[in-house]
Amino acid sequence: MDFREQVRSAVNIVDVIGERVRLRPAGPNRYMGLCPFHNEKRPSFTVHAVHQFYKCFSCGAGGDVFKFVMEKDGLSFFEALKSLAERYGIPMPKRSQYADDESKLRAALMEMHELAQEHFRDNLESAAGEAARAYLVRRGLAPATVEQFGLGYSDRSGRALLRIFEQRHLPAEQMEQSGLVGRRQDGSLYDRFRNRLMFPIHNESGKIIAFGGRALAADDEPKYLNSPETPIYKKSYVLYNLHRAREAVRKDDRAILVEGYMDAIGVTAAGFAAVVASCGTSLTAQQVQTLKRYSQKIVVNFDPDAPGARAAERSINLLLDEGMQVRIMELDGDLDPDEYCRERGAAAYQERLDSAKGYFYWLADRARARHDVHTSEGVVAVLQFLLPAVQRIPDNLERMAVANDVADYVGVDRGMVLDRFRKSVAERQVKTFERPRIVLRPDERMLLNALLAEPETRGDILPALRSIEAIGRFATRRIFQAVLALDQAGSRIGYDEVHARLEESDQNLLAEAVLQGETQASREELLAAIDSMRRTEDRERRTELKARIKDSERAGNLAEALRLTEELQGMERSARGRS
Ligand SMILES: [Zn+2]
Repeated sequence: MDFREQVRSAVNIVDVIGERVRLRPAGPNRYMGLCPFHNEKRPSFTVHAVHQFYKCFSCGAGGDVFKFVMEKDGLSFFEALKSLAERYGIPMPKRSQYADDESKLRAALMEMHELAQEHFRDNLESAAGEAARAYLVRRGLAPATVEQFGLGYSDRSGRALLRIFEQRHLPAEQMEQSGLVGRRQDGSLYDRFRNRLMFPIHNESGKIIAFGGRALAADDEPKYLNSPETPIYKKSYVLYNLHRAREAVRKDDRAILVEGYMDAIGVTAAGFAAVVASCGTSLTAQQVQTLKRYSQKIVVNFDPDAPGARAAERSINLLLDEGMQVRIMELDGDLDPDEYCRERGAAAYQERLDSAKGYFYWLADRARARHDVHTSEGVVAVLQFLLPAVQRIPDNLERMAVANDVADYVGVDRGMVLDRFRKSVAERQVKTFERPRIVLRPDERMLLNALLAEPETRGDILPALRSIEAIGRFATRRIFQAVLALDQAGSRIGYDEVHARLEESDQNLLAEAVLQGETQASREELLAAIDSMRRTEDRERRTELKARIKDSERAGNLAEALRLTEELQGMERSARGRS
């Protein structure tokens, strides 16, 4: 048994998922809970204890225990394997025996980032780093802060890092995969970052996986250049500074979310350790889910300019979708968080933090600034603006309380606000829960479940199934074909084996078939089902033959009509013989 199988058989998916999701029994071998991959109020997330898989019928997430850990924690397959093995006390084979290509590449790329980091820091100290050092002084960064955040400098040559990699005889392909080196059209390689102030970006456990580079020359575009996506850097999963901030976020039970590297650094330097930045991308659901493991409370502190406010608006809906409690912090004097901390000091920042508004009041303020609430059109526009956020409040009572608050705050009639919000929530719910479901025939469902569950029954029904063409008309025909192919090859027939042979749409069908088929059929029932299929099939064939005979006669093709009639008689004889 290979190590993957060893871990899989030692680990129960119900326990692993049960640590993250509240699961309730929902039938023999079946558990349900609220899907951890999307926000929902009614459970559509199912875990199957026998076949060891999970499936969400709303968002489509699904897979085995490894897939769950990979998706939930943003890990590679090897890392997920390792994490499960550690958690269940299964000793890992020696690394040399079980290091797949993917994890070798990842380790090599991380090592390259360490080299790059060392190089960038040396540069910053060197004569070439003078302008970068001057910039840091202008931005008021203390040497200790520069050290703490590992800031560096990429020189102008465009070849310095490349040379370091070449001296180590690293393959060109790997250099490109690191995202630190680019390739020109003529095939030559170059350093991606040139003449930039370098910010190392870490993963949650503190390993450098990417860089952000700020242009130092005024005409360099873009102002901020980030590493591209690489095997070790998945932008949508990474929050800048999380590895430093996470303990403080847990302790304060609150995270501060800012936009840029400099903001995160400036706010940290002012003494607020629980700060992270989305940097380079707009906030994603995966980032929020990562953060949520440390606290459900967040204060959004974006730039006070118009793009910053729009980004804050967008992130509110996303944060609410993930069930976060959101407040918005506003700074006066047109200062960004970094500038604010330097110019006004930590106490002033603390005061703004303490008076951060619930997202609803912030949104209402924005709406009020744009529309005149003394006109009925203005009121409608304000409510319209607030709707997306209201619709995301899961709890009915809370929604009503918010509606009342909003009405008072905006200065409109409570009844009107409630009425409007209630309607829109109803509309949204209908949209969310209407999903097409394929209804499987009871006999195909019963047969599939029997094939996957019981090796002894399989021996009886597989040969019989082979002769039935009707299977070719089932929605699940490719699943049956996969089972037959595995049987032909003498392979094990289990959920995972069948699943691995299917395209995604058929994988979904397989999950449906297994989850809908709760009762186990007896051998007699199964054989009876096959027999009835065969009889239906015979009947259909005879009807079809009769029609073709008529057609041939009508067309005057008597030889063909005679041949078909003989075929029909043969079929009727063998049908009589069977019954
Ligand atoms: Zn889901």
